[in-house]
Amino acid sequence: MADLYLDGMWREAVAAGHRDIRCPADGTLVATVSEGTRPDTEAAIAAARRAFDEGSWPRTPERERGALLLRAAGVIERDAKEFARAESLDTGKRLVESEYDIADIVACFRYFGGIAGTSAGRVIDTGRDDAISRVVYEPVGVCGLITPWNYPLLQAAWKVAPALLAGNTVVLKPSELTPSTAVLLMRALEEAGLPAGAANLVLGTGAEVGAPLAEHPAVDMVSFTGGLETGKRIMATAAGTVKKVALELGGKNPNVVFADADFEAAVDFALTAVFLHSGQVCSAGTRLIVEDSLHDAFVDEVVRRAGRIRLGGPFDPDAETGPLISAQHRSKVESYVAAGLAEGAVLRCGGHRPDDPSLAGGFYYLPTVLDECRQDMRVVHEESFGPVLTVERFTDEDDAVRIANDTEYGLAGAVWTQDAGRAQRVARRLRHGTVWINDYHPYVPQAEWGGFGHSGVGRELGPTGLEEYREPKHIWQNIQPRPQHWFRG
Ligand code: NAD
Repeated sequence: MADLYLDGMWREAVAAGHRDIRCPADGTLVATVSEGTRPDTEAAIAAARRAFDEGSWPRTPERERGALLLRAAGVIERDAKEFARAESLDTGKRLVESEYDIADIVACFRYFGGIAGTSAGRVIDTGRDDAISRVVYEPVGVCGLITPWNYPLLQAAWKVAPALLAGNTVVLKPSELTPSTAVLLMRALEEAGLPAGAANLVLGTGAEVGAPLAEHPAVDMVSFTGGLETGKRIMATAAGTVKKVALELGGKNPNVVFADADFEAAVDFALTAVFLHSGQVCSAGTRLIVEDSLHDAFVDEVVRRAGRIRLGGPFDPDAETGPLISAQHRSKVESYVAAGLAEGAVLRCGGHRPDDPSLAGGFYYLPTVLDECRQDMRVVHEESFGPVLTVERFTDEDDAVRIANDTEYGLAGAVWTQDAGRAQRVARRLRHGTVWINDYHPYVPQAEWGGFGHSGVGRELGPTGLEEYREPKHIWQNIQPRPQHWFRG
């Protein structure tokens, strides 16, 4: 149980703590891992600080740093089966979904490895022959990277790859519920040749590992993906040492369907939008906003198909989606459904745990559709993060945009229509970081990901995802200095 990676060495936690990781699909013991506390976190921060101030990594040419990311991508790809299996056991998600995630992680490392050296800075035309001005990019320093349990390694990859490419040193803190693939990632970076201290891993809770990363004066930046309330706390804590902060938080994402949409495709994607990974997706299309004239036929078909979704564990070939992450999380989802019903929502399907005794050992919850919802209901404006679809109606384009934007979040959304002009108009008016037209969920590492409003601060992926981890510096050189005599005396 030497699962902490500090200064290039695998170690046990100072206080010898450990945690059992159990598969949410059936409660089987997956692993027992070391669990760090504050002293481990402080040791990891010190290692990252030394590696930044004195080590080779920040001074390694960016092209070489990129080459290391490409080698790491190769290792992850070679071991993809092991990574995917570990991800599925920790999260309970279907193996095929984990395989997609690992392929995306490889693509992320390849993207950032591939753009190495392509944006080294700018030379400014000063208008003077005696002065040279250029803007270069420096790493921010020591970065604390805190990630959630729903896409454990994918969310880590979106941070680790650009942070390392930019020349930072990092301390990664994955969710305490899903640590296994972070351990595998450190092994892959080690095999790819990353110098000691450039990437460190501390497993443990938010209080013992996450909070110290946000507090510590030797950490220059904290990049967090997780829930809104945790994000607010981290931002407030980081203010104490004026750290750079990047936040990827939740969403209440609208899926807007006009009456002229391709019916079959829109129904199909309305299901994938919300029920993929049992709704434990930050960009899940949890709010179906459908044109009045289409409402009845559309919702009937969504309900019919939602009722047929097959639940099961990661290795069940018939399963179409899996369990929730924990008993506590399932109770939270149940309380949101209860609140929705108390506020007048109409239950069209689901709304309880499955009866199938073979699923009794896991944290399953049936795909649920709540009709006749309004924005003032808690289940509509707060993130339940479960398989719960709420349905609202709209009358015209302005009404659709108004309802879709009536959220404190602004992560993602979709519009379904065969009118290309309307699709573009609505897409531009939606105050969300990603908008899909006649589609749901695809993303590419070349394009920025992140949210408006309470969905976060900053962007991951794309060129901006690298900028987050850089400090621009202006260097001015007077190559022929002469007295200026501003002061005559
Ligand atoms: P969470 O906020 O409970 O935990 C996220 C991480 O923060 C974990 O590693 C946790 O241990 C740590 N943490 C907890 N308290 C902390 C503290 N006080 N200081 C520092 N760290 C602390 O979130 P979760 O339940 O793991 O993940 C689900 C949430 O993540 C959802 O809200 C989802 O929308 C969001 N999410 C967002 C994106 C995105 O790209 N915007 C992607 C995935 C998930």
